[in-house]
Parts: sequence; structure tokens; C-alpha cells
Amino acid sequence: MPTAEQALLKDIRELIARPSISSVSPDWDQSNERVIEFLAERFSSRGFRVDVQPLDTPGKSNLVATLGAGEGGLVLSGHTDTVPCDPGLWHSDPFEVQERGQKLYGLGTADMKSFFALVLAATDGLRAEQLKHPLVVLATADEESSMRGARALARAGAPLGRHAVIGEPTSLRPVRLHKGILMERIRVIGRSGHSSNPALGNNALEGMHAVIAALLTWRSDLEGRAQDPDFEVPVTTMNLGRISGGDNPNRICGQCELDVDLRMLPGMQCAPLRTELRELVAEVLRGIGLDSAFDALFEGVDPMTTPAVAPIVKATEALTGAPAGAVAYGTEAPYLTQLGMDVVVLGPGAIDQAHQPDEYLALDGIEPGVEILRALIRQFCLQAD
Ligand SMILES: [Zn+2]
Repeated sequence: MPTAEQALLKDIRELIARPSISSVSPDWDQSNERVIEFLAERFSSRGFRVDVQPLDTPGKSNLVATLGAGEGGLVLSGHTDTVPCDPGLWHSDPFEVQERGQKLYGLGTADMKSFFALVLAATDGLRAEQLKHPLVVLATADEESSMRGARALARAGAPLGRHAVIGEPTSLRPVRLHKGILMERIRVIGRSGHSSNPALGNNALEGMHAVIAALLTWRSDLEGRAQDPDFEVPVTTMNLGRISGGDNPNRICGQCELDVDLRMLPGMQCAPLRTELRELVAEVLRGIGLDSAFDALFEGVDPMTTPAVAPIVKATEALTGAPAGAVAYGTEAPYLTQLGMDVVVLGPGAIDQAHQPDEYLALDGIEPGVEILRALIRQFCLQAD
């Protein structure tokens, strides 16, 4: 019989050994089915009812595993995919866990396949009859590329539980806030012509100059709308990230495009902000006889905001001794919130390890992580409220 610790490390090795890269680039994108199969097998052997939910995209599925039944309950959620990696930059095979200096190296060790192994360890010996409220394990597809898995769950609208933990790497500190993210391509469409006579065309570069001026004014306006001292940068931000246009000094520029990134505070939402941005730009350009076009570079993520008084926030603060804070990256939390859950992000591993060569999970985060999960299961599933 392997010890509990050996079993947990074996599960981490198994998860890392099953590649599940997701990427907007089809050259990199892979199925997550081997991870889902592994989790389905492991959780059904624990007595969970396992529901594998294929997405519209072939080879991609979510998994919902449930122990117990009834109202309320706890959802432990993670994504099954990883970002792409360049094995040439790694000191060991990214898909074979290596232990060196009290750290487990491998793609997805911190972000965030190991979390499922911790959940398996925390549920060892748990029986459905003991549960007053259900325990749900959620494993999603494509978090790193499109959040397609979480979007599908939110669209389906089936309630999963009342309290949720997403095990993204937070060094075991609870997180209840993050900003939303919106990325947009703005295209100015003019008319090219010979440079010697401005009347022969309508210059898209000059139009973009007017657009940028308007965007910077809008940015000041957004900064003034709200402040939140929980964030290191306490305002909504906008970055002008990339510009390209024109081809020759002696031709009037016919097209120019600009990519911008907005990070909005809780209280704002992606969709209305995108509409506002598009209307603002279109109006500026209409005024000078230019056309506009827009592409959402990705659909966007709304901000995460879980009330400080939510029971899951209070519970995770008490268990970790850390106040629930804010992070600078997006998660699937807003989709779970849409399904009626109070969500905290809390997991082992450090976020600065995520998306890096030689990604690792420090071993000293594992046992405390399992203990926190066991305590949450006791509080939200085993006790009647
Ligand atoms: Zn992640």
C-alpha cells in the first residue's frame, strides 16, 4: 500500500504526463481528454457521480464530479489545460515530473493540475452518506486560451453549489477580487492616394492620431470613475499595445490598426465598456470622414468580486490567517459567480511560476493545501447549517 503522500505525488505525475495544452493557435492546441479520463476514473473510484460534458470543440470536455446530494455545497474547481511551452528552455522534460530541491518541476505543476491531486487526497475515505451538502469537483477545458469550458457551464446555467474555491496558484492566500480584461483591435479605414496631393485620399494614420487623443481622454475619465485600494493599481487601466499602418512615405495611409488592453475594476463589465469604446472611436472617425472596424482580440473576462462577508471568504481567511486580497490576473471566477456561487481563488504554488519554463510546485505547499481543503469540506459539506 502506498502512503497517502506517495499516492498524491503519483497523481501529480500522472496529470503532468498527460499533455493538455490549450492555445488560440491551432498549431499548439491539444485535446484535454486524457486529463479528463484520468480524473473521471479517479473520482468515480471514490464514489463520485461523474459527468463528462463535451464542448462544441472536438476533443475538449469539462468534468463535473459530485459526491452527495442536496442544497448548497462546496465546489472545488480547476482548469485541466496548460499554456504551451518551449521544452528547449526547460532543464527537464516538462511532461515528466522531476523532484529537485523540495520542488516538483513540470508543466502545470503550479498552474494548476496538482490542485486535482490535492483534492483527491482531501477526499480520500470520504463517503456520500457522511455529506449533509454535496461536494462538487469541477474540471474545465481551455481556461488558458478562450475560457470556453467555463463559458459553456455559465451558458448551460445548471447550478453546481453555493461556495466555490478555484485552486489557481495563490501561495495559499485567499483572493476575492480581480480586474476584468478586455482586448480590442481598432481599425481605421481611410483611402490611399499619392502623397503629393492630400485631396487624393483620406489618411488613416491621421485618423488614428485623433483616435488616440480621444482614447487618452477616455482613459482619464475611466480612472476618475472608480478607485479600489485593494488593488496595487487602484484604477481601471488602458494600455496602447500595438500599432501598424501604412506602407510608404509617399502614399497616403489607407489603413491603420491599434490593439488596446483594458483592465477594469469590479463594478464595470466587459460588454458595456466594449460598446462604449467602439461608439467613441466610430464617432471620432465619422467626424473626419473615416470608417472604423473592430475585432475583439478575445471575448474578455469580467472582474471578480466576492463580498468580504461571504462564508467562503470568512472560512478561507480563518484557515489561512491571511486577509482575502486582489490579484492582477483573470480567472474563471466570474462564470462561477454567474451560476450563483461565492468564489474564492486559493491554491498551492506561486503565480510567478505560472507560464514560465521550469514551472514548479514547492512541496511545502502540498500538505497545508490538503488540510485547508479537508477543513472546507468539513465546514461546508459535513456540517448541517
Ligand atoms: Zn491557471
